[in-house]
Amino acid sequence: VLQIRDLHKAYGELEVIKGVDIVAHRGEVVSLIGSSGSGKSTILRCANLLEDSQQGDILFKGEPVRWKGGGHGRMPGDPKQVLRIRTNLSMVFQQFNLWAHMTILQNVMEAPLTVLGRDRAEVEASARKYLDKVGIGDKCDAYPAQLSGGQQQRAAIARALCMEPEALLFDEPTSALDPELEQEVVRVIKDLAAEGRTMLIVTHDMKMAADVSDHVVFLHQGLIEEQGAPDRLFGAPNSERLRGFLSATQ
Ligand code: ATP
Ligand code: MG
Repeated sequence: VLQIRDLHKAYGELEVIKGVDIVAHRGEVVSLIGSSGSGKSTILRCANLLEDSQQGDILFKGEPVRWKGGGHGRMPGDPKQVLRIRTNLSMVFQQFNLWAHMTILQNVMEAPLTVLGRDRAEVEASARKYLDKVGIGDKCDAYPAQLSGGQQQRAAIARALCMEPEALLFDEPTSALDPELEQEVVRVIKDLAAEGRTMLIVTHDMKMAADVSDHVVFLHQGLIEEQGAPDRLFGAPNSERLRGFLSATQ
């Protein structure tokens, strides 16, 4: 279970998250939607300890996810805890951030080897397994530049999976892709949802959100404006803002 409770986050004077509660139970897929600047990425970044927050709690399996210290230049707390959180909440970004000088297989193997110190043969076997799973098992020896955008994003998903995380965080995983490539990635995400992976997905793709989510959260200016099951939220939105947002994204 990933629990975000009363999260507040400001950049200087600008409060961008103003008290947000989100729960993703084990095996649940929660999607975050909302206009640009509503705070979606910030929430994921706080959950993954890429950002500090001013107030509120983030709990993963009951363990608080937080930075230590106060004032400027706060540092992440216990490095072991940061590592444990980042391993357990593996994040997939809009820009896939693969290492250009490494093959796809090496990209997927890198963190389990160097960060987790796992056995090489075991990591290679699981890297190949996950690359097969996302449909690019034949690209192990290729370099990122030789892959299409959809293939690169699928490699980035395999890389996240190879950490054996308990939950996956996706930040607009399809928004850098052409529509036809987007579908390849959506299919992989659907498979992961069907497997019962816990996922928190920021997306602009309402069709994907409707298809894969157990719960959808609509953010507006750092607050939850409306949330609910996808059928209800997309089928019968209550809030005027959500109705406006949905008609603009159709
Ligand atoms: P998008 O759909 O465009 O990705 P978003 O919902 O993910 O938007 P965030 O990236 O979370 O939005 O940004 C929320 C607000 O915080 C925005 O007003 C943004 O300008 C501000 N912001 C984000 N990162 C920083 C930063 N490093 N410094 C200052 N302000 C920031
Ligand atoms: Mg964003």
